[in-house]
Amino acid sequence: MVTPEEIARITVFAALSERDLGRLSQVAADIMLVPGEYAAYEGGERALFGLLEGRIEAVKRVDGADKVVGERKPGDIFGEVPVTLGSVFPAGFRAAEASRVIRIEPHDFHAVADIAPDVGREVGRLASHRIAGSRGLQGIVAEPWAPRAIVVGPRWDAACAALRHFLDRNQVSFRWIQPDMPDAAEHWDGPLPAVEDCPVLRVVDGKTVVKPQLRRVAELLGLSTEPLAAEYDVVVVGAGPAGLAAAVYGASEGLRTIVVEREAPGGQAGTSSRIENYLGFPSGVSGEELASRALQQARRLGAEILVTRTITRIDAGTRQVHLDGGDVLRARTIILACGVVWRQLRMDGFERLVGKGISYGAVRTEAPATHGLDVHIIGAGNSAGQAAMFFSNHARSVTILCRGDGVEKSMSRYLVDQIAARPNIQVLRRTEIAAAHGGASLEAIDVRSSETGETTRLESGGLFILIGADAETGWLPPEIALNDHGYVLTGPEAASAEGWPGDRDPFLLETTVPGIFACGDVRASPVKRVAAAVGEGSMAIAFVHQYLKQAEASPVG
Ligand SMILES: Cc1cc2nc3c(=O)[nH]c(=O)nc-3n(C[C@H](O)[C@H](O)[C@H](O)COP(=O)(O)OP(=O)(O)OC[C@H]3O[C@@H](n4cnc5c(N)ncnc54)[C@H](O)[C@@H]3O)c2cc1C
Repeated sequence: MVTPEEIARITVFAALSERDLGRLSQVAADIMLVPGEYAAYEGGERALFGLLEGRIEAVKRVDGADKVVGERKPGDIFGEVPVTLGSVFPAGFRAAEASRVIRIEPHDFHAVADIAPDVGREVGRLASHRIAGSRGLQGIVAEPWAPRAIVVGPRWDAACAALRHFLDRNQVSFRWIQPDMPDAAEHWDGPLPAVEDCPVLRVVDGKTVVKPQLRRVAELLGLSTEPLAAEYDVVVVGAGPAGLAAAVYGASEGLRTIVVEREAPGGQAGTSSRIENYLGFPSGVSGEELASRALQQARRLGAEILVTRTITRIDAGTRQVHLDGGDVLRARTIILACGVVWRQLRMDGFERLVGKGISYGAVRTEAPATHGLDVHIIGAGNSAGQAAMFFSNHARSVTILCRGDGVEKSMSRYLVDQIAARPNIQVLRRTEIAAAHGGASLEAIDVRSSETGETTRLESGGLFILIGADAETGWLPPEIALNDHGYVLTGPEAASAEGWPGDRDPFLLETTVPGIFACGDVRASPVKRVAAAVGEGSMAIAFVHQYLKQAEASPVG
C-alpha cells in the first residue's frame, strides 16, 4: 500500500496536509507495471495517476501504429485531461521501464479537490497546458501530416480506386496524386510516372511499386500476410465483426487463433458510415472505428490476423485449410465468419463503369469525388439509408431509387426520419434503373417509373448500388450443408440436414461437419446485424472449447 509520504512525492499533492495525504493513501491503488504494460489505454475510463518510480510514455495510435507523444517522470501526474474534462483518455500511458504508479478514482480526486482547491486548480492548469501547450495535444495537431504512402493514379482508374479503397480499409494514411493536378510533380517530388504505369504506390521512406497487387502492398506496409505457424486451435475465415469477435475471445482464452481475411478487417461493417444501433455507443459509431478497435483488441490479445489472403478450400476430413498461394494450415477447429457479398446488378454498360463512378456498397473513399454533384443510390434497406445520409454531406443531392412503394417497410425508423429531415435527399418510389451512360466515367443514368412506364435520363456524378447481399459459399466442401440460398446450416438445422455424422447433437453454431462452426451473416438465420455477428463470434469460441474437450476425451468421436 502506498504511504502518505510517498504520495507527497507527487508534485501536485506535495502541499496537502498530513490528514489529506493520509486520506488519499487509503483510497489510491498502488500499481506495479512491467515494461510495456499500460496504466491506461487510449479511450479508457478517466482516472488520475501519479508516477512514483520508473518512466511512463504517452502513446497515441496514429494510422494504425503507436506513436510516443510524451513522457512522465517520477513526481508527475497523468490523466489530468480526462479527470478535468470528464472524458476518456485521449492517449494511452505505458510503462517505458518497470514503474510504480498510484491510481486515484475521479470521485476520490474530486473529494480532495473540494477540501484542497489548490490541487484542483493545479490539475486543471496542467490539463490546459497538455491541451494547449506546444508539446501537448495542440502540438500533436500542429505537426505536419505525414502519410504512410503516396498513390499516383487518375481519378477514373478502377485499379487506382481499388488501391485507395484497400489502403483506407486497412487504415493506412495516404496522399493521392492525380496526374492532372497542377502541383502533382511537386507532391511526388520528381517526374510523374507514366499514366500507363498507374496506379503507382510509394511507401514513404520505402519502395515504389508500379501497378502493385494488393498482397504486395500489404507486405510493403508491414501488414501480416503470412501465417506464423502450421497448426492452430482455431482458424477463422473472415475478419468482419463475427470473425474479429471470435479472434478476441479465442485469443483471450488461450487458443492459438488465426484470422484469414481476403481484403481488410471490418467486413461489411467497415464500410458502414454510422452504425446507430450497436449497444454502448449512444451517438452511433462508424464501422471503421468499430473495426479498428476490434482489430487492436484482437491483436493485443494475441490473435494473428492475415490480410489479402483468401481461404480457397477446406478439407472436411482432415480439417486442413488451403490459402491462396498454396499455404496449408492444420486446424483443430474452423469458424466460418465469411459473411456475404454485395449482389451485382447485371445490365448493359454497367460493368465498364464500375470503379468509374459506379460502386457496389457505400465506398467512402469516393466521397470527395461527389462534392457538388447529384448522386444516386439504388436500394431501400438500412445500408442504402446510411449511404444516403453519408453522401448527403458531400454531394449536392442524393436520390434513392426504390423499386417499391417507399423505404418505410425496409428501413429502420430512425433512418427514415433522418432521411426525411435532410433537404438534399429525395426518394424516387417505384423507380428502377434502366441504363448507365458515360465515356471515361459515369455521366448519366436512365430511370424507369413502374407507375407511368416513362424513362427519364438524369445526370449522375455517382451511382452506389446497395441491393442486398448473398452468401458466397460455393467454395465450401460438400460435407457442409447449406440452405437453398447458400447459407450455412448450424445447430438443430444441421442435425436434421443430411450428412451430420456425429453421435451427439451439433452445438448451436456447429455445421454438419463436427468442429467446423459458422457465425454471423453467412449462417442461415434471419438476423443480419453487427450485434448478432459479434455475439455469435464470441459464442462460437464457447462451442470450440466444448468440442475440443470432447475430442480430447474421445479422440475418435
Ligand atoms: C453499408 C452497411 C451498413 C450497415 N449498417 C448496419 C447497422 O447500422 N447496424 C447493424 O447492426 N448492421 C449493419 N450492417 C450489417 C452488418 O455490417 C453485418 O451484419 C455484419 O458486418 C456481418 O458481419 P460478419 O462478420 O458476419 O460478415 P462480414 O461483415 O460480411 O465480414 C465477412 C468477412 O469475411 C471475408 N471473407 C469472405 N470470404 C473469405 C474467404 N474465403 N477467405 C478470407 N476472407 C473471406 C470478407 O472479405 C469479409 O471481410 C450494415 C451493412 C452494410 C454493408
